[in-house]
Amino acid sequence: MNVLVINCGSSSLKFSVVETESGKDLAKGLFDRLGSKTPGYKLKNVERSTEAEGSLGEGEAHEQALDLLARFLNQPENDNLVVTAVGHRMVHGGEKFTGAALINDETLAAVESCSALAPLHNPSNLLGVRKSLEHFTDLPQVAVFDTAFHQTLSKEAYLYPIPLELYREHGIRRYGFHGSSHKYVTSEAARILGKPLAETNIITIHLGNGCSAAAIENGRSVDTTMGLTPLEGLVMGTRSGDLDPGIIFHLYRSLGMSMEEIDATLNKKSGLLGLSELSNDMRELRQAAADGNENAKLALAVFERRLAKSVASLRASMSKLDAIVFTGGIGENDAVTRSAALRQLAFLGIEMDADANQSAGRGKNGFISTESSKVKAIVIPTNEELMIARETAQHIAD
Ligand code: AMP
Repeated sequence: MNVLVINCGSSSLKFSVVETESGKDLAKGLFDRLGSKTPGYKLKNVERSTEAEGSLGEGEAHEQALDLLARFLNQPENDNLVVTAVGHRMVHGGEKFTGAALINDETLAAVESCSALAPLHNPSNLLGVRKSLEHFTDLPQVAVFDTAFHQTLSKEAYLYPIPLELYREHGIRRYGFHGSSHKYVTSEAARILGKPLAETNIITIHLGNGCSAAAIENGRSVDTTMGLTPLEGLVMGTRSGDLDPGIIFHLYRSLGMSMEEIDATLNKKSGLLGLSELSNDMRELRQAAADGNENAKLALAVFERRLAKSVASLRASMSKLDAIVFTGGIGENDAVTRSAALRQLAFLGIEMDADANQSAGRGKNGFISTESSKVKAIVIPTNEELMIARETAQHIAD
């Protein structure tokens, strides 16, 4: 089945047309700077090796982007891109969604009610869905949530030790994100390890611009590093990850920062960027560190130390560990991050194969632990779009 996967952000819209059986991308593209003076687009029919690039009119946004996308899919030269369904990436499904959901009035109202939990993401996701419903009137459309895979967490894992009423009345708890990625690499890991999914015990580590790790016991997420929002957990490109919440009061009361400034500081100016005072990009930081930049070295050392600590603490949430899995732009491509983490995690029973680690990734699955390693380490390229497409197809078939 061909599924159109839409990932709609506040100023961008990414899409792909995925053939679910083979997992191939037939087409992909990006509309960016939406709503700005210079919105642009790039559309690619991957199967036919054709590309179109251009700009939308000043101030044009999601509506015009979807207009153009619908026209692109209907062009005679793109007649290989006939889609049967649309799958939408949705960030926050709260406790309402434990899996994908067919989009109808009830689903839309439920997603809207979760918007307070993800004010930066859900409104843009919803905008994309509403516009897409106007354009693709005949197609079934499905919402796939970043949070759904982690709905298997137990209360011990998801409750914050704050007044219980805040959970009961306002849903303040840990939800976890990157669910499509953790789910995808979990099923790939089970296949590579030759185990049934229900007997697969792994820690999945998604390291991209956003970073999170998850403890997967018997194929189900039992703990994860992100929380109510994607700010908790590991050090990320521009997000701080875990910190003493007292810092927020201090910034507010003693430094006179506004809540908006604190929000921007922790979400957009912290993490690798904040510590290095240079960049949020791993490649640039590795280069700068190699050139002797002390701040870059420091940022990387903090990133690596906290990564190892978080993975070790996830291990405590599981009774058994078969493997740890690296994915995401950094996890798949940065051998130095992987080897630093594996060295610090050797006590878990992981023995790294340094040569395999050096040559791993590059779009392929591969072991980076020795054959005799008690706990394996694997690199698995993630494919969130394929996961969304497959969940969409499966939901329609059910
Ligand atoms: P993502 O959000 O998954 O696209 O990942 C983005 C991050 O992956 C950025 O920090 C990139 O610098 C990093 N990344 C991508 N390719 C490489 C590479 N070849 N080596 C090291 N880091 C990389």
